[in-house]
Amino acid sequence: ATVPLELTLVVAATARDMGIGANGGLPWTGLRKEMAYFARVTKRGDGNAVIMGRKTWDSIPPKFRPLRGRLNVVISRSFAPGLPKDPADGPDASPVEASSLEMALEYLRRAKVDSAAESANSRGGRVFVIGGAQIYGAALRLVEARRVLLTRVVSDFSCDTFFPLALGTTSVAADKTADAPTWVQRSRAEHAAWIGEEVPDGVQTEGETQYEFQMWERVD
Ligand code: NDP
Repeated sequence: ATVPLELTLVVAATARDMGIGANGGLPWTGLRKEMAYFARVTKRGDGNAVIMGRKTWDSIPPKFRPLRGRLNVVISRSFAPGLPKDPADGPDASPVEASSLEMALEYLRRAKVDSAAESANSRGGRVFVIGGAQIYGAALRLVEARRVLLTRVVSDFSCDTFFPLALGTTSVAADKTADAPTWVQRSRAEHAAWIGEEVPDGVQTEGETQYEFQMWERVD
C-alpha cells in the first residue's frame, strides 16, 4: 500500500532573486539563530527525515554530518540504482544513499510502514527537502511538494545558485503558466501551528543581515 507522503522544502533565499548559494556554500555567514530555527523545526517530533543533494551534503562540515536527530538521505547519480539500503553503520553514522529523489521517497514510504507497524503512537515523521537548487527543482516537480519554509533574506548577497520558484519576490502571477501550481503565504499563526513553536514577528536582524521567517503552501 502506498502511504501518502508530503514534502516540506526548507530554504533561505534572497528577496531580490531567490539566491541560495555561492561557490558551493551559503552566500552569508553567521546566521546563528536562523540555523538554530532550521535545526529545531527539522528535528521536532519523532523520526523526521532530511533529503539533500550530494553537493549540499559535501558543503556540510564532516563533524556536523549526518545532521543529528534526523534520518539523512543523500541523492547522487553515483549511488547504486534501485531501492536504497539501510545505512550500514546506522543512521547516526552514515546517510541513506539514493540514486534519485523518487527512490528516496520510496525508501521513506517503506520506512514509515515499518515504523507504524512497530509503534502505534509514532508520528510517522516529517520529510524535509533541504537543498540544493537541483534537488529543490526535482522536488517541486512532484505533487508531494506541499509546503516551503522560506527564510526570506532581505539583505542582498551575490549568488550563483537560485531557488527555482519565485515566492513573493516578483509577482507569482506574472510567471504563472496555465498548469503551474499556485503558492500562497500562510499567516504567522498557521506557520506557528505547523512548526510547533512561535514565529518571530517581522524582520529579524543578525549582524548586518536582515531576514524574515515565512511559510508558503501549495493550494491546488
Ligand atoms: P545539490 O545540493 O542540489 O546537489 C546536486 C547533486 O545532486 C548533483 O551533482 C547530483 O549528484 C545529485 N543530483 C541532482 N539531481 C539528481 C537526479 N535527478 N538524480 C540523481 N542525483 C541527482 O547542488 P546545487 O549546486 O544545486 O546546490 C548547492 C548549493 O546550494 C550550495 O551553494 C549550497 O550551499 C546551497 N544551499 C543553500 C541552501 C539555503 O537554504 N540557502 C540550502 C541547501 C544548499 P552527483 O553529482 O554526485 O551525481
